[in-house]
Amino acid sequence: MDAAKAAPPPVLILLGPPGAGKGTQARMLEDRFGYVQLSTGDLLRAAVAAGTEAGKAADDVMKSGGLVSDEIVIDILRDRINAPDCASGVILDGFPRTAVQAESLDALLVESGQRIDIAVSLEVDDEAMVDRIAGRYSCAGCGEGYHDTFKKPARPDQCDQCGGTQMKRRADDTAEAVGTRLKAYHAQTAPLITHYEEAEVLHRVRAMGPIDEVATALGTVVRQATATA
Ligand code: ADP
Ligand code: ADP
Ligand code: ZN
Repeated sequence: MDAAKAAPPPVLILLGPPGAGKGTQARMLEDRFGYVQLSTGDLLRAAVAAGTEAGKAADDVMKSGGLVSDEIVIDILRDRINAPDCASGVILDGFPRTAVQAESLDALLVESGQRIDIAVSLEVDDEAMVDRIAGRYSCAGCGEGYHDTFKKPARPDQCDQCGGTQMKRRADDTAEAVGTRLKAYHAQTAPLITHYEEAEVLHRVRAMGPIDEVATALGTVVRQATATA
């Protein structure tokens, strides 16, 4: 018998500006492929809510729409990616966002014998992102994302997934903070598209169409990238 080693757990990266649909698509990929969504935004918001030292340092930066320091974000991500539930594979949503974070991720994956299977750039028009973010809300119980116009729950204010009735909006989903976040994306995160293109793992998926259409296109490239020969 061939003593072939089992393939390491897949690593997927979703890149795109705020509002591109990273969180929405990551949750759909979780359901479809069984990978775990790791959102540094969610992890940071949990740290803020818990009042940890990292959360205290991140709070004001997040409200203004700037990027939290690489050190804090990398520490938070490192803790989470090594958790046992990540052994089925991960979808990185909102990480890496800077060149330093991308280098740290590469080093972290070398340690665990993993590699980046695919980095998808969700391609959208900045102007449309303001409407997406202004209408965004989510279920306080399970985190499912909704939109005032583009993704309404079947019953008003009742979560389709868990039946919860408490919905919440983010403190940084304001017009001012969105402008800052888009600038941060173009200055610090968009250059990573070239980085992953050079590493030959980049796929571009147009993400201006309806959610299901984007999910279908994304599912196709993820399936191809993670298929074992
Ligand atoms: P969005 O979904 O709108 O792109 P996120 O939930 O991913 O927003 O992030 C919200 C905020 O959390 C960011 O504006 C930033 O302040 C902080 N943040 C999240 N991920 C990172 C990261 N990888 N590096 C630095 N800051 C981050
Ligand atoms: P990101 O995580 O990239 O910031 P989200 O997944 O939170 O983006 O999506 C932002 C908002 O836009 C949410 O309210 C979501 O329901 C909605 N949305 C996501 N994808 C689409 C799409 N393809 N068309 C219209 N609205 C979308
Ligand atoms: Zn819910």
